Parts: sequence; C-alpha cells; structure tokens
Amino acid sequence: MKFHVLTLFPEMITGALSASIIGKAMERGQIELEAVNIRDYTLDKHKKVDDYTYGGGAGMLMAAQPVYDAYQAVVCQDKPKPRTIYVTPQGATFNQEMAKEFAMEEELVILCGHYEGIDERVLEEIVTDYVSIGDYVLTGGELPAMVMVDAIARFVPGVLNNDESAMTESFHDDLLEYPQYTRPAVWMGKEVPAILLSGDHKKVEEWRLEQSVKRTRERRPDLYALYEARQALIPKKKPRRKKF
Ligand code: SAM
Repeated sequence: MKFHVLTLFPEMITGALSASIIGKAMERGQIELEAVNIRDYTLDKHKKVDDYTYGGGAGMLMAAQPVYDAYQAVVCQDKPKPRTIYVTPQGATFNQEMAKEFAMEEELVILCGHYEGIDERVLEEIVTDYVSIGDYVLTGGELPAMVMVDAIARFVPGVLNNDESAMTESFHDDLLEYPQYTRPAVWMGKEVPAILLSGDHKKVEEWRLEQSVKRTRERRPDLYALYEARQALIPKKKPRRKKF
C-alpha cells in the first residue's frame, strides 16, 4: 500500500514514521510512504504558500494552487483517482473501522492543512474524505496524518507479525482488550492471575473475554452498549433435546 502525504513539513512525517513496526514494514516493502512538500509546488517567487482570507479574519490560509499542483504530481493520470483524505477537525472522527476500510486501498493521499486551513475550492476539487482525529484543534495536519498512517498500516497484510494481533486488539468486536501480563509471575507482591499459568487454553480464552467485557463496561459504556446490541442479534443456541 502506498501513502502520499501532502504537507508543508515532510520531515515531521518521515522522521516519526521511519521507526519501529511501520519503519520495518517500509523496509520490507509492505508499505510505501511519500511525504510531498507542498511548498515545492508554489509558483510564488518568494515560495509563499499562504495568503490572507477574503472577508477578513485572523490568520492565513493555504492557497489552492500549490496544494493542487502537489496533488497532481502524485496522482497517476491514467489510473482512477485515489481516495484523498483532508485531515480536519471538521471531519468524521477517525476510528478502527475506518482504518480497516482505508487499508483496503492500494493508494491513499492524505492532505495536511496548516495555519487557518486550506482554500475551500481546492478541497472541493480533490478531497474524497474529511477526517478528524478528535474534537480539538491542532496546529497542523501532520500529527493526524501520522496517527492515521500508523493505524491504517497495521491492517495491511504482513505489517504485524501475526494476523492475530489486529484481531484481538481493542475495538475488535466492540470490546477493549483484556489485561495482559509478562514475566515475572510475581512483581511487587502482585501475582499474575492463576488461570493464565494453567495452560488450559479454553479457560484462558473464556477469562479473557470476561475481562474484555468487564473492562469495556467500566471504561467505555458507549462501546459496551454497541457490544450488547450486537450480542442481542446473535441467535441463541437451542438447548439440545434429550433423547429417551
Ligand atoms: N480553522 C480550522 C477550523 O476551525 O476548522 C482549523 C485549522 S487548524 C489550526 C490547521 C490544520 O490542522 C487543519 O487544516 C487540519 O489539517 C489540521 N487539524 C487541526 N486539528 C485537527 C484535528 N482534530 N483532526 C485532524 N486535523 C486537524
């Protein structure tokens, strides 16, 4: 999968995402990340990319021309246009389902705003999805873009060591993940739950599900309500009739 991130600060993107699991996935060629400097495409002789907003108001706005030309430089003219996400506090809130859906794309363009944002006309031309990472305002779209690349890349086959990780992590089946422990078995007098040392895989699975449900109910009642609603739709197994 290939990510093209259009930004005024490409070094933020490449620096942060070249480490750890995402960096390794890039080395293995499972994902490609291209951070494109929008400033390289401005036609302004002083390399300016922003200007005052019509109608007045505080702050500067990124102009349409450099954004559009940077976009044109990354999209292939003889292929269908890739999904193009503008990260903005005005978008739909990003979540695990969206990450899974975006991971099915071959290519994604992520556009990062700065200052007061971007001229609406270029957004109308190129953007297919408006996505926010939460109800607060950041200085620029670079952190949201990094958050999204990381979360999406985890669903690209082969990026995680085993398929199981993404399947048992929080938000799968509307549940948070269960508590986890590693060695030593006793730390500061606290013991690892005995069931996890029992070697009984079925019991371990049951315990984990129980803990996930309990944790979700306590910490995320909104998510728990979704889980409960979905459970209610699952047909209950009929008790087997006894044969006489
Ligand atoms: N004036 C804009 C508004 O009120 O909606 C906010 C502009 S913000 C200071 C600058 C840029 O940061 C935005 O264009 C966007 O790309 C990015 N940004 C800020 N907060 C964000 C959020 N919660 N989610 C995604 N992107 C965000």
